[in-house]
Amino acid sequence: MANQQKIPMREQPPQERRRNFSEAALGYTPEQAKREASRCLGCNNRPCVAGCPVSVPIPEFLALTAKGNYAGAYDAVYAQNTLPAVCGRVCPQERQCEALCVRGIKGEPVGVGRVERFVADWHDEQSRLDDQPAVRNVSQKREKVAIVGSGPAGLTCSGELARRGYAVTVFEAFHEPGGVLTYGIPEFRLPKAVVRREIENLRGLGVTFEVNAVIGRLFTVDELFARGYAAVFLGVGAGLPVFMGIPGENLNGVYSANEFLTRVNLMKAYLDEADTPVQKGKRVVVVGGGNVAMDAARCALRLGAEEVRILYRRSAEELPARAEEVFHAREEGVVFDFLSAPAEYLPDGQGRVRAAVCQRMELSEPDGSGRRKPVPVAGERYTVDCDMAIVAIGTTPNPLVAQTTEGLELNGRGCILTDSVTCATSRSGVYAGGDIATGAATVILAMGAGKKAAAAMDAYISAHV
Ligand code: FAD
Ligand code: SF4
Repeated sequence: MANQQKIPMREQPPQERRRNFSEAALGYTPEQAKREASRCLGCNNRPCVAGCPVSVPIPEFLALTAKGNYAGAYDAVYAQNTLPAVCGRVCPQERQCEALCVRGIKGEPVGVGRVERFVADWHDEQSRLDDQPAVRNVSQKREKVAIVGSGPAGLTCSGELARRGYAVTVFEAFHEPGGVLTYGIPEFRLPKAVVRREIENLRGLGVTFEVNAVIGRLFTVDELFARGYAAVFLGVGAGLPVFMGIPGENLNGVYSANEFLTRVNLMKAYLDEADTPVQKGKRVVVVGGGNVAMDAARCALRLGAEEVRILYRRSAEELPARAEEVFHAREEGVVFDFLSAPAEYLPDGQGRVRAAVCQRMELSEPDGSGRRKPVPVAGERYTVDCDMAIVAIGTTPNPLVAQTTEGLELNGRGCILTDSVTCATSRSGVYAGGDIATGAATVILAMGAGKKAAAAMDAYISAHV
């Protein structure tokens, strides 16, 4: 019976963590990691691996961990996944490998992500103790490749190509690499030291990073080819915020989640010594139900809000955020208004938001696709006082690269069209993957695309150069 449940992970108590930015989940001890890894049945057909977009050899690394061979376990993971400490923390394993885990049929699946996090952190700690560069340099081939954007798609593509011996340069618009891992996901879920460490490992493989380099402004993609890059990967994400277009959205105090989280995470606005200001609302409304909404709500709490209320237009069952994040947000005191959406923000007479007028919704009968649409309930509105509202209803691709690159075909949502197997775009030598191709999705899907693209770029360069 006891073996049917995951070993719980240590966490900061909710009442403490709701007011600090330190990591909320504290990870496994070696003993806990061994016990959790021992729950793996070592299934011959490895269903869990089929659920992993980067093909981590899950039963093998779990077996090594169970024997206490953490170095071997790390090597097995790192051979397929160059960002294991990140994935162990934020990958939605419950919808990937763990959803297919045989242990899940009669109990809880093996905590693959938790053990992955443990071996990555163990390796990090060990490298620091040994004062060794975490990963050795790889000899370089003559050909240069350019990666545009340093989120999980670009980072993974860069690591895979560096391992194949290419001279890889990553161009990043911001002053720090990492994409959403650096500017979006908060410190208490993914410490920036962890992201920096994974990036250092890529530097160790020979990857070069050029920051403050906006492709489409500094150079176009054509100019990258003219500068001798044999192929280009576009991993520029989908970072353009979407608003609802309702009255009052231009009032002071109404933020996009993207701006709010960038100020807090990338610019460290939560630290007293930071130069970047951010509003610290007392009564905060957050609109949306995804991971972005949960992160914005939990950041607002940590900045000192007395009340944080999430407005989500569907019901709890449809929340797109990871179940773990919703649970943590609730534990910390975030309030949820389901079947509710703002219809208007009211001003305080000085150009600031003072309240959100909310529309009650209901779900329609399932349409052809089986989805139930939220529809307004006539005459059912209520008002919530707030001095801040954060809109987290999605993002779309920034059009800059597409506008400045000849021959890239886009779909109706502005995403770059790519081949599902190779990530090739309509322009020869140009590949794309991650949110720029799929729309806002997940870290592991972006990584999977980066990996597929690297294999295809290698084949393309070998055939053409
Ligand atoms: P990004 O991570 O968006 O990286 C793109 C990079 O390209 C950025 O650094 C950007 O500055 C750079 N760039 C853009 N244009 C240019 C240009 N012209 N020149 C140079 N550089 C450029 N997913 C999960 O799996 N689990 C989670 O828990 C989770 N939580 C999330 C929380 C938040 C707040 C957000 C916003 C997203 C979250 N996601 C989560 C989604 C996930 O982070 C994304 O799907 C993933 O980061 C997409 O990776 P990417 O490499 O395609 O793009
Ligand atoms: Fe282990 Fe679950 Fe994978 Fe089977 S499906 S090998 S039990 S992790």
